[in-house]
Amino acid sequence: MEFLWKCHDLDKGKKCPKNFKHVGRGCFSCKKFYDEKMTYRPETDLDGKSLKRFMDDLLEYRGWLDSMRGKNVRFGGTVASVFPHLKMAIDNGQGRVYMDGFYISFDSGYFDNNLFDDKIYLRVNGRFLCRTEATPGDDLEFDAIFTEDRGRIILRNPKKIEMTKNGGKECINISRAQVARATGKIIVGSIEKCEDCSYCSLIDIEDRSRKEISHYRRFYCLRGISDSDNCPARIEEIIRAEKRKIRF
Ligand code: SF4
Ligand code: SF4
Repeated sequence: MEFLWKCHDLDKGKKCPKNFKHVGRGCFSCKKFYDEKMTYRPETDLDGKSLKRFMDDLLEYRGWLDSMRGKNVRFGGTVASVFPHLKMAIDNGQGRVYMDGFYISFDSGYFDNNLFDDKIYLRVNGRFLCRTEATPGDDLEFDAIFTEDRGRIILRNPKKIEMTKNGGKECINISRAQVARATGKIIVGSIEKCEDCSYCSLIDIEDRSRKEISHYRRFYCLRGISDSDNCPARIEEIIRAEKRKIRF
């Protein structure tokens, strides 16, 4: 289930008095703003056999998750990205963004010698980041507590850390993260275009302005660009790549 942000005027093709092209955080106090509750029901194209195999795999995975939850585990992997853990609290239509540590993400990694071929997150505080200066490309190995939060595997309280610096590219630090927290925006355009961008982050939202408190996640641009379809940073990158092609 999720809530979609909508606008009565944009729905009818009318112009927004503030010239917004999409509904976003700036709309919460506008009379034209409303949100629509979407409830999704899964459907499948799989035949009976494939569906059974899928359900068996799912049950096995859930069993594995249950056996891992709360355990102290040894994990090793290559850092894919480092980004702030951002939260937004919405009260009376007003959103307040705050930072609650950082995430280091891995595209895959090893629990002892067993490959886990999916995204994993390590939750760290600013002190950890200053001390290790972890950047994408570095190899990290550590003991941590295994937790799961709405489908995301999150490792916490890292100890016995071993690290190999691989001269990875520069990435976010505490002061840049604070600026990004204040100036960042929820992405309202298509997200596929942001997938490989180091400014793309997730934000956990607690919406208290409805009858029932709802929790959901959105993609958040740390560069403060909400219209990803016309993102100048991405367009610059495309132009640079085109110029490189012309030179060769
Ligand atoms: S501010 Fe937002 S909700 Fe209000 S008219 Fe403009 S786009 Fe629509
Ligand atoms: S800078 Fe552009 S590509 Fe990167 S996250 Fe923001 S909107 Fe997406």
